[in-house]
Amino acid sequence: MSEDKSVILVTGGSGLVGRAIRTVIEEERKLDSKLVRNETWIFCGSNDGDLRDKAQTEALFEKHRPTHVIHLAAMVGGLFHNMAHNLDFFRENMSINDNVLNVSYNYKVKKVVSCLSTCIFPDKVTYPIDETMIHNGPPHPSNYGYSYAKRMVDILNRGYHSQHGCMFTSVIPCNVFGPHDNFSLESSHVIPALIRRMDDTIKKGEPTFTVLGSGKPLRQFIYSLDLAKLFVWVLRNYNSVEPIILSVDEEDEVTISRVAEAIKEAHGYQGEIVYDTSKADGQHKKTASNMKLRSLYKEFNFTPFDKAIKDTVVWFRDNRDRARL
Ligand code: NDP
Repeated sequence: MSEDKSVILVTGGSGLVGRAIRTVIEEERKLDSKLVRNETWIFCGSNDGDLRDKAQTEALFEKHRPTHVIHLAAMVGGLFHNMAHNLDFFRENMSINDNVLNVSYNYKVKKVVSCLSTCIFPDKVTYPIDETMIHNGPPHPSNYGYSYAKRMVDILNRGYHSQHGCMFTSVIPCNVFGPHDNFSLESSHVIPALIRRMDDTIKKGEPTFTVLGSGKPLRQFIYSLDLAKLFVWVLRNYNSVEPIILSVDEEDEVTISRVAEAIKEAHGYQGEIVYDTSKADGQHKKTASNMKLRSLYKEFNFTPFDKAIKDTVVWFRDNRDRARL
C-alpha cells in the first residue's frame, strides 16, 4: 500500500472473518503504539447498508470514500442450508458482488480483495487443488448456487483489470472457524454447529452426541484470527489479480471425527460420540495447496488446531447469550 492515507472499508465487518480482522488491527495497534500506519479501518454490517441494493451500496461508498475494500459480505451457510437454498445463495451473492465491485470501480477504489472459498472448486478435480482450477468443471451439486456466484467474482476481477486496469483480486480460504461465528442450528458450518450442539447435549445431561454423516470427510480448517492476519497481509503486499489460496498446510487436513473429538476434549464432554450415516457427507475432501502462499510468506505460523478449537469453545461458552444462535 502507498504512503498516502488509506481508508479501508471492510464489508461483512460484523461477521466471523470481519470481526477477526478488527481484532487483528486492534492488537497490532496495542502491541506497537508507535507504529504509524496511514490507515483508517471501517467495518460495516448489513445494518450499515444492504449491499444487494445498488443505491444503498453507493450511499455507503459515498459516506466513507474508501481507497481500499476488503469485501467479505455474503450470504454464507453450512451444507444443509446451502442444499435447501441454492437459488437464494446464487442470486443474493451475485447482486452483492456485482454492486460492490461496480461501485468500487465508480469510486476509483485502488484495491479490492474479495473472498472466494475452497468449496467452490470443481467436484471432479485432481488433488491438491490450486488457484488455476476454479473454473475447470461444475462444483459439487450441494452448493452450486454459492459456488457459481463466487466464481463470478474472479470473472469480474479479470474483467475490471483487463478493461479498466483495476487491482481487484480475491483470496480463497478453506473452512473458517473462531469467535463470533454463526452458531445457529439451521445455517451454521460444521465446527460451530458441533460446538453449539455439544454444549446443548452437556446442558441436557445426555450420554451420547450425534454427528450428522459418517465423520469420514476430510477438511482443512483455518482459525479466523490466522485468516485475518493473512487478509491484512494480502491487502498490504499482494498485487496480482490471480486469486491466492489462504489455507493451512495439506498435512493439517483433518476428518470430521477428529474435529468432533477435539471439540469433545475442549468441552470436557464425558459421553460417547455416534455417527448418523443416513445424513449427507458432502464432498469427501477438497484438499487445497497453499504452495503459492508459502512461496510468498513462508514464515507464517498457523495456530495449532486444538488450541484454536479450545479458544473457540471457551469464547462460545463465555458469550453464548450474545452469540449468533
Ligand atoms: P458471516 O456469515 O459470519 O458474516 C457475513 C457478513 O456479511 C456479515 O457481516 C453480514 O452482515 C454481511 N452481509 C450478509 N448479507 C449482507 C447484505 N445483503 N448486505 C450487507 N452485508 C451483508 O460470514 P463469514 O465471516 O464466515 O464469511 C466472510 C467471507 O468469507 C464470505 O465472503 C464467505 O463466503 C467467505 N468464506 C467463509 C468461510 C467460512 O467457513 N465461514 C470459508 C470460505 C470463505 P450482518 O451480520 O450485519 O447481517
